[in-house]
Amino acid sequence: AGSLQGTHNFAEIPARYYSSEPSLKETEENGFKGHSMLAPFTAGWQSTDLHPLVIERSEGSYVYDINGKKYIDALAGLWCTALGGNEPRLIKAATEQLNKLPFYHSFWNRTTKPSLDLANEILSMFTAREMGKVFFTNSGSEANDSQVKLVWYYNNALGRPNKKKFIARSKSYHGSTLIAASLSGLPALHQKFDLPAPFVLHTDCPHYWRFRLSDETEEEFSTRLANNLENLILKEGPDTIAAFIAEPVMGAGGVILPPKTYFEKIQAVLKKYDILLIADEVITAFGRLGTMFGCDMYNIKPDLVSIAKALSSAYLPIGAILVSPEITDVIYSQSNKLGSFAHGFTYSGHPVSCAVAIETLKIYKERNIVEHVNKIAPRFQEGIKAFSGSPIVGEIRGQGLILGTEFVDNKSPNDPFPAEWGVGAIFGAECEKRGMLIRVAGDSIMLSPPLIMTPGEVEEIISKFGHALKATEERISELK
Ligand code: PLP
Repeated sequence: AGSLQGTHNFAEIPARYYSSEPSLKETEENGFKGHSMLAPFTAGWQSTDLHPLVIERSEGSYVYDINGKKYIDALAGLWCTALGGNEPRLIKAATEQLNKLPFYHSFWNRTTKPSLDLANEILSMFTAREMGKVFFTNSGSEANDSQVKLVWYYNNALGRPNKKKFIARSKSYHGSTLIAASLSGLPALHQKFDLPAPFVLHTDCPHYWRFRLSDETEEEFSTRLANNLENLILKEGPDTIAAFIAEPVMGAGGVILPPKTYFEKIQAVLKKYDILLIADEVITAFGRLGTMFGCDMYNIKPDLVSIAKALSSAYLPIGAILVSPEITDVIYSQSNKLGSFAHGFTYSGHPVSCAVAIETLKIYKERNIVEHVNKIAPRFQEGIKAFSGSPIVGEIRGQGLILGTEFVDNKSPNDPFPAEWGVGAIFGAECEKRGMLIRVAGDSIMLSPPLIMTPGEVEEIISKFGHALKATEERISELK
């Protein structure tokens, strides 16, 4: 516990391979004077040595850069623009709400109709178990930060002041605020930030291909991980462990699917020691995996859920927490004693974000987004997985419309390519050259396209993936 497996995620990308061509040059005409932005998840040298890729407009599954070059957006922005780039109904919903009431808050029992309506709608859509209330945030990170505060408030109310530690998993991504970054299990989020906070423990990443013992079946692997979790709980003292947080499918850590029986066994351990389960559905909610929520796919019965991203198809910032009826009751009685539940943000339940989210959820239902995902996902998965035989590919894995690929030498998880070759970055640049944007993290690459993709767009992604892979193979044989 405490040590993080794998170090190559979020690795720095060698400059020479990163960008195929600058998309924004300093000219008199465009008035671009260089980079004044401290850019998120960007190395300093990238913004000093290279021009940023500047995206100017979007249309369906495509985005266009400032020079008019077209890209298929195979990551849906950052795993979020589920309805693609120019859904007029969302723009109308925002405009109407802006005209009617651009802002009012939700503090002190004042609120707005869109936030009330959205909370009802979210509760009616989440059916993995009954939930009690919805708390609004502006992002996934804020949702996960709020989860920790809620759980602490809950345990204090129950007279369990020592039950405060959180267990998260290596390679998880839960956001980048102080607490969300602490929960995350990626070394780059901790290094030099004095993180993780001491109340956060990390347990195994459930990546069967990379971390199984030889001869271990998926079920045996899951049993071992559940045992490791139990041992960690016993070592720390069950009375000190408040909650376990997990993404149903790990996203930014490389698209890692839970092995067979994993959540069943983990949930049994948590139940045994009265530890809350938080499902971080920031990526998986609203159809990404081919079920409305990731909890439906893996039979997860969480006490708390975090959502964001596809909640508004990312047209406006909004996140939320779903709170179980039991926790809600305790929070209500505690806040009666204290005078208020003193947690919230100016923009919690922002009416314009809520109006857009309500319309987003309406569209998911009307267009039967889950059915659409299940219609196109088999070809998406099978088309990309057909490249598994490539000599530079270790594993291609995915579910629904999310997919990860890991590049290794000799098909072995234990034979990484030299980091300085930047194999993932080469592949990313080859995709970019061909008009496709993906996520690169070290030698892992990830796809999470808009849910509204057409079968033709699925073919385009498969074809561009194949050509980029071929070019990457050639580049590697030159390097070897
Ligand atoms: N949780 C998960 C699973 C995520 O993938 C992300 C973002 O990618 C977050 C939380 C953080 O969300 P945000 O970037 O909106 O703060």
